[in-house]
Amino acid sequence: MVVSPGFIDPHTHADRELKLADKSHNKPFLFQGITTVVVGNDGDSYFPSSKFIDRYTKNGIGTNAILLVGHGTVREQVLGKSDKEASPEDILKMQAIVQQEMDAGAFGISTGLFYAPGSYSNTDEVIALAKTVAKNNGIYDTHLRDESSYTVGLISAIEEAIEIGRQAKLPIHISHIKCLGVDVWNQSKAIVELIENAQKEGINVTANQYPYDASATGLKAAVVPRWAESGGMDSLFIRYKNRKLRKRILAETKKNITRRGGPKKLLIVKSTESKFVGKNLLEISELLNVLPEVAVFETLKTGYIRVASFNMNPKDIHLFMQQKWVVTGSDGNTGHPRKYGSFPRKYYKYVKQDQIIDLATFINGSTSKTAEILKIPKRGKLKEDYFADIIIFNPNTFKDKANYSDAFQLAEGLEYSIINGKIAIDKGTFTKQLNGRVLKK
Ligand SMILES: [Zn+2]
Repeated sequence: MVVSPGFIDPHTHADRELKLADKSHNKPFLFQGITTVVVGNDGDSYFPSSKFIDRYTKNGIGTNAILLVGHGTVREQVLGKSDKEASPEDILKMQAIVQQEMDAGAFGISTGLFYAPGSYSNTDEVIALAKTVAKNNGIYDTHLRDESSYTVGLISAIEEAIEIGRQAKLPIHISHIKCLGVDVWNQSKAIVELIENAQKEGINVTANQYPYDASATGLKAAVVPRWAESGGMDSLFIRYKNRKLRKRILAETKKNITRRGGPKKLLIVKSTESKFVGKNLLEISELLNVLPEVAVFETLKTGYIRVASFNMNPKDIHLFMQQKWVVTGSDGNTGHPRKYGSFPRKYYKYVKQDQIIDLATFINGSTSKTAEILKIPKRGKLKEDYFADIIIFNPNTFKDKANYSDAFQLAEGLEYSIINGKIAIDKGTFTKQLNGRVLKK
């Protein structure tokens, strides 16, 4: 057996379940060996934190939880969904909200600068809010403005993150680091250099990564131009009905589909319409007998659509994984197997099968290093006086089971999970004990 500190997952969307009494057990994560999840990533947090901390505490939660305050959430409180530039008064209001959330126990701020409304902010706005976080000894976690070649480009987006660290003087953590799409493949080497130069300058830059070659996101976020959705879904379809704008929207959507590798590389994993789930965008366009870019809007009319987007190259995945400043993070959200499989998959595929990293690197980058990045006291190590978050797994059977056709299968091979000194998984079976706590900064 392998005895390890419990895994710490720095990027999840588990809050969507932690808030529900019948799902707050957090089993998809628990069975991976995760004992602490971070929520509120990608600029999107539940607001106000204090209300949700109370709810989690009252219902009980299966793993520990750490909250970040989402920049997009804060921006929406002050500026709504508009793409307006923040005035100095707006910034002051946003800083006050960030302070309120830090006081409630958040460990730092997250941004989703790729997504609306985070994408509408400029770097100065983000630096101003990050300074409030820095005063509270918090961290900055980011979904970069561009992981591909949509707007500023991947390299410039990394430079922006570094600049925020330089000016606001706080640690920068880049979430789900990747080179998304053929346009930016093989940039990992240049990015590693860029980050290591920043580290030499004294800026604390780290990253997390999930061990899959497909990303997952909303179909709208993936291919619809941001200007077209300013104001929300209704505004998008008002613009779409205008003949002139529709032409431009479709042309840009088509370009974004190409950037993602074409319509065959976009697999629908979540939709209220079951006929779309499990089909790629090309198949859907054939089903509806329209062009792929038109099929995007036909499907979006039915509601939220999530896609798995096959857009990464193994060389980049491996190089990032081998950096000592890159830790494991699932980015677990519904429909992508990473929610159920990230940590055991990294062990099974990248440690055992492909030998890209060794066992010690995997464990350190899933526990102690992650605790250090997030500044979590007394967790992430097996050490006297530390909290007893401990897992025991069988090295011969520890493995992910979830895949793209069935993303909802619990991982195998975890024999024991102990959280805050109490057993949550006993001989591979969930004890139904909710042993987690909300960790407050
Ligand atoms: Zn993200």
